[in-house]
Amino acid sequence: MNFDFSEEQVLLRKTVRQFVDNEIIPHIAKWETDGAFDPAIWKRLADLGLMGVCIPEKYGGSGMDYNSLAIVCEELERGDTAFRTAVSVHTGLNSMTLMQWGSEEQKQKYLIPQATGEKIGAFGLTEPGAGSDVASMSTVAVQDGDDYILNGQKTWISLCDVADHFIVFAYTDKSKKHHGISAFIVERTLDGFSSKAIKGKYGIKSGNTGEIFFDNMRVPKGNLLGKEGEGFKIAMSALDNGRFTVAAGAVGLSLACLEASVKYSRERQTFGKEIGRHQLVQQMIAKMEAGLQMSRLLVYRVGELKNKGVRNTRETSLAKWQACDFANKAADDAVQVYGAYGYSDEYPVARYLRNSKAPVIYEGTREIHTIMQAEYVLGYREDKALSNMLPTWPFDE
Ligand SMILES: Cc1cc2nc3c(=O)[nH]c(=O)nc-3n(C[C@H](O)[C@H](O)[C@H](O)COP(=O)(O)OP(=O)(O)OC[C@H]3O[C@@H](n4cnc5c(N)ncnc54)[C@H](O)[C@@H]3O)c2cc1C
Repeated sequence: MNFDFSEEQVLLRKTVRQFVDNEIIPHIAKWETDGAFDPAIWKRLADLGLMGVCIPEKYGGSGMDYNSLAIVCEELERGDTAFRTAVSVHTGLNSMTLMQWGSEEQKQKYLIPQATGEKIGAFGLTEPGAGSDVASMSTVAVQDGDDYILNGQKTWISLCDVADHFIVFAYTDKSKKHHGISAFIVERTLDGFSSKAIKGKYGIKSGNTGEIFFDNMRVPKGNLLGKEGEGFKIAMSALDNGRFTVAAGAVGLSLACLEASVKYSRERQTFGKEIGRHQLVQQMIAKMEAGLQMSRLLVYRVGELKNKGVRNTRETSLAKWQACDFANKAADDAVQVYGAYGYSDEYPVARYLRNSKAPVIYEGTREIHTIMQAEYVLGYREDKALSNMLPTWPFDE
């Protein structure tokens, strides 16, 4: 077991931290008010090689290991959750799924432009009537000649108005339940595709989230991802990657809460001393530190399993559940440390609290991960080896 970061990883962290400090944090208040971040950020992410961190160089990526992706997510979410969410859906849920399940032709056509940042990817699984219970989805795909015709709607889709490509899921045979779901690569330019942002979100206000609609949308047969009926398996393996990025981001959010709380605790005085000298404030700070360090260990362990090509559904679920819960608690305590000042936009902690909630809901709610962990321990759930795993790292170029 090695806990050391490589020189390349240390430099990566420093680079992303500087980018966040200089190009995200100074503008975040305005972007939250605008309800969108400056689209020029996408080009900056691409210039820094952050649009395809753990995608092999031969597919346009930076060829770094899976823990390097964790470092990027951690540092981005230290700035704001919207940027980590963007990387989670673009890389974690879309590009890594193409890498794992795409044909060579699909990788050439879709993965390369996504890894270079020329195109943006997203992921559409959730529907108005199907969140945790994926198999209750209503979207259908009917084969017609060389195409599938898709009809249906997805909701709460990150980057719904921004992404060029989506991986979406639809029933090709409802009678087969989970085994009747298929995955498709869909381009925004297809006839019958439309999107609409959700207004009035509680948090991640600078990020774009909303609905996508398929109205007799013709998708070429070549855009079927994997085989017909493999969609559920593909969705779950995509979540193993997406959840890893969400967990890593939560580490960054916990760090942001801790940094802000330590700063304020050393500045603010009550009863003649810094509030950091009061035991009950120290208790909140100590719990933030413990949550941060425990989350880090869980996340980097998953990264190592991914590097080695070992199935990690159980470990990823644990890391995602715990890291997001810790970050949510850290954000709640950070507001408490700031007292009334934490309850305003003057300081970042209220934004941290709002942002910390969605990750406890998306990519498997707190309750779903609780159930998963109990079932693994009780022997009710077991993961079999998957036919398609991510390539092990170092990548064979
Ligand atoms: C900001 C944001 C961005 C998102 N981005 C995406 C995206 O890019 N792509 C995408 O596909 N989806 C996305 N989602 C949707 C997200 O994945 C779903 O919201 C999530 O899966 C939960 O589904 P639901 O909201 O329908 O809740 P439900 O599944 O209806 O759950 C409601 C409540 O019931 C609980 N519950 C459900 N089943 C059980 C059970 N068996 N036992 C105990 N409790 C249970 C849940 O834990 C929850 O508390 C996003 C959501 C948000 C908030």
